[in-house]
Order: sequence, then structure tokens, then C-alpha cells
Amino acid sequence: VSAAAAPEEQAFEAGLRPKNLDEFVGQRKVREQLSIMLEGARGRGRPPDHVLLSGPPGLGKTSLAMIIAEELGVPLRMTSGPAIERAGDLVAILTALTPGEVLFLDEIHRIARPAEELLYAAMEDFRVDVVLGKGPGATAIPLDLAPFTLVGATTRSGLLTGPLRDRFGFTGHMDFYDAAELALVLTRSARLLGVQLTEGGAVEVAGRSRGTPRIANRLLRRVRDYAEVRADGVVSREVARAALRIYDVDALGLDRLDRAVLDALVRRFGGGPVGLSTLAVAVGEEVDTVEDVSEPFLLRAGLLIRTARGRVATPAAFTHLGLEPQSDQLG
Ligand code: ADP
Repeated sequence: VSAAAAPEEQAFEAGLRPKNLDEFVGQRKVREQLSIMLEGARGRGRPPDHVLLSGPPGLGKTSLAMIIAEELGVPLRMTSGPAIERAGDLVAILTALTPGEVLFLDEIHRIARPAEELLYAAMEDFRVDVVLGKGPGATAIPLDLAPFTLVGATTRSGLLTGPLRDRFGFTGHMDFYDAAELALVLTRSARLLGVQLTEGGAVEVAGRSRGTPRIANRLLRRVRDYAEVRADGVVSREVARAALRIYDVDALGLDRLDRAVLDALVRRFGGGPVGLSTLAVAVGEEVDTVEDVSEPFLLRAGLLIRTARGRVATPAAFTHLGLEPQSDQLG
């Protein structure tokens, strides 16, 4: 399992997305800041500043972008960094925007450099320079754009170049959700799906959802199946626990990559310290993926710490893997 949404999951997710800021659970600070900003913009009758949302996958960045458009009463256009290979791709998108429209650019850190450079003037002056021809005879034709709001999402704001980051008037950092917030997400989803979920069931699933609403909703589907097939349809604590055991979801909700990273750190490297790139090679993953997706959760769960000499497993990590903690590990 990964925190990214599989294609067949997207339709299911669409039905569960919060439709406005009030339905959006948690992230209180980002929510409040956005709400003030949107109200100010509405009052002035002008598009709000560009918004950058950063944080691990599945925490609600896309949902927030949709909510921003919804709250402003404007259309939303969605694209992503990897989909924009050439500057021309971006020009086509930008020139088609209607006044006030919200443009959601997912994985903005992966946009091609020439397109990124076009984005600077587009964001600042609502203008793009379309270059015709090549070499000394090339001419740049400035094109005016309709004023728009860019909502960029990234798993890594650190990978954004300075000039791009500077053009966002607002940056919201999305954090993992705590168990109480995830229980609220689950209760809401259960209501929408017509699943009977007890409070104990919600708490049980929430605790194993890796701090991530997308995973909470995914696990809810699994326990619902189990409850219908093997029990009386009600997702109680016991039913949730039994279902999650079958699906190999451990008590902390670690996913396959989290477990692989933790296992390598503890078993192969004796708990560390070990460099991130060595760790990534050991689990056969990209360094970026380990750093963006796994490490933030392992840090948050208190299983891993970063030191000047590398990553170190905490005693809790050893215990979680059923091993004796090493006493000199943190020394
Ligand atoms: P991201 O863009 O950060 O990967 P999404 O916005 O696609 O995350 O969220 C994934 C799913 O999780 C959505 O379908 C939505 O149902 C659910 N979700 C995310 N954040 C929240 C939230 N704060 N409240 C309720 N549901 C949420």
C-alpha cells in the first residue's frame, strides 16, 4: 500500500471529499488562515494570493484546492508538474483560464524548468511571453492572462526554487492527523457510505491509519467488507481489529515501505546511524520517496530520529519489531 491514490480509488475518494472548509477535518491553523484570506479576497472582489500547500500524500491538499475554488465560487482546473513537459503545455493551460479561476498544480516541484520560468511572470503579472522562432531572430510576444489563483501542492516545499516559492502569498503546511481527527473523518465517511461504524470501531481504525485521511478511508472499505462477509455488518472494535489483522495492517498502521525502512534500519544497520541514501538503496526505493513519504511518518511516530551522522532507530522501533532495544543506540 502506498499513500498515493490508485485509479480505481479516485471515484470512491471523490464521493468522500469534504465540500467546504467546515467539513474539512483538522489542520486548524491552515484552515483558519485560508478562511480569512478567502473572505478578504471575496470582499475585495479579486482573486486571492497564490497558495502553496505542502505535506505528505493523502493529507487533503487536493481537497483543499477544490474547497478554495468552491468557496470562491469559481471553476477549478487541475493539472500536475509531471504533466507539463514543455513550456507550451503550460501556455495552453494558462491562456485558457477564465477570470478568477483556480489552477491546481499538483507535484509542482516536478514541473519542467522552462515551464517554471514562464510561471514566474504568469503568477506575478498575469502575463506570459510566448517565444516565436529560435536564435537571434526569435521574438517574444507578451500575452495577457485572466487573473487567476494558482494552488500548488508539493510533498516537498524544500525542493521548490526560491523564485517560485517567493511568488506564493500563502504557504500552508499540512501535518499528519491525530487519532481523534481521523476518527471524525471515518465517522463522516461511514455516514456517507451507509456503513455502521461504532465509536470503538472508529478509534481502532483511526489508530492504524498512519495519520492519513486517505488511508483511513481505504481501511474503512476493508473493514466494511469484512463486517459484511464475516460479521453482522457492524464495524465494532473487535470486527475492525480482526479485519485489519487479515489485511496485515500493524498496530501503528505502518505501510509496506515504512516497515521495509524500519526493518533495514534496525536489522541490517543495527539501528543506525545510517545515511538516508544507503537506507534508500537497502529498500530499493528512490531517496526522495523515502524522505517525502516514509520518513515524515516514522519521525512523527517516534520510531526514527535524524542525527548529524544519519538516521537512528529509537527504542520504540526495536520494540515495534519485537526486538530488545539496544541501550547505547542514542549515544
Ligand atoms: P492529497 O492531495 O494531499 O494527496 P487528498 O485531498 O486527495 O490528499 O485527500 C485524500 C482523501 O482523503 C480525500 O478523498 C478525502 O476524502 C480525504 N480527506 C483528506 N483530508 C481530509 C480532511 N481534512 N477531512 C476529511 N477528509 C479528508
